[in-house]
Amino acid sequence: MTAQLYSPEKLLKELGIAAPDEIDIEAIAEFCQATVIPQKLKGSAARIIGIGNRAFITVDSDSHPARQRFSAAHELGHWMLDRGKMASFVCSEKNFVSDWAGDNPERRANRFAADLLLPKFMFEPHAKNKEITFQTVREICSLFQTSITATTIRLVELGSFPAIIVCNSKQGRRWQIRGADIPYVIQVRDAPGEYTNAFDLLHGKVSTSNPGNTQASDWVTHPRARYYSIHEDSIKVTEDLVLSLLWWKDERQLLDLEEDEDE
Ligand SMILES: [Zn+2]
Repeated sequence: MTAQLYSPEKLLKELGIAAPDEIDIEAIAEFCQATVIPQKLKGSAARIIGIGNRAFITVDSDSHPARQRFSAAHELGHWMLDRGKMASFVCSEKNFVSDWAGDNPERRANRFAADLLLPKFMFEPHAKNKEITFQTVREICSLFQTSITATTIRLVELGSFPAIIVCNSKQGRRWQIRGADIPYVIQVRDAPGEYTNAFDLLHGKVSTSNPGNTQASDWVTHPRARYYSIHEDSIKVTEDLVLSLLWWKDERQLLDLEEDEDE
């Protein structure tokens, strides 16, 4: 098998996998000559060692089962994408949450894992017309046995409403992923405004109005944003990182802002 030719979707089709509960990551990895071994790990969440045509993936047996699945799929991504070039990778929980931007092996492995565990053709029917909130994310997580970050990204990419996911630390924005239908004139601020739920969570306060409507200018830089509102749902995912889902139930607001720009 020429591993490099296998995209996640091609792998699933080749193996005849058609439903979320059939995505057996250990069996898929084995098909790709990679053996997954759950084991107690210190200082990392997962690692992979490649020797010739075989790879051995170790995932931390103490972590949540959904996290172990993502870890295994992420390591398999390293194997499938960088096979021949790589000898080993050691990856941390931080890689899985932080590395969703730029072009580097960690981001590519995260993308591979998201596409394998949450494939478009299975995901879309479950996301159709659902609100873009972490409540929806949790429902989909339990169906696909996946982690919050990856599932949230897929909801933004494949859900029915225009949405953006932003990851912030106290120092400001770390990364963002925008739905395909978000116009260019909508640019996310470098840091959320002080009336947002994300701001409260980043500064150790308990957010009371989560999820809810926020003034759009607290999130985006458009000069007329203060006349509009935006749905925000934020959660803390690590000690210092907060994920925020921003979305528009009424697409007209987005179109209005785009037209304003054209005038
Ligand atoms: Zn990695």
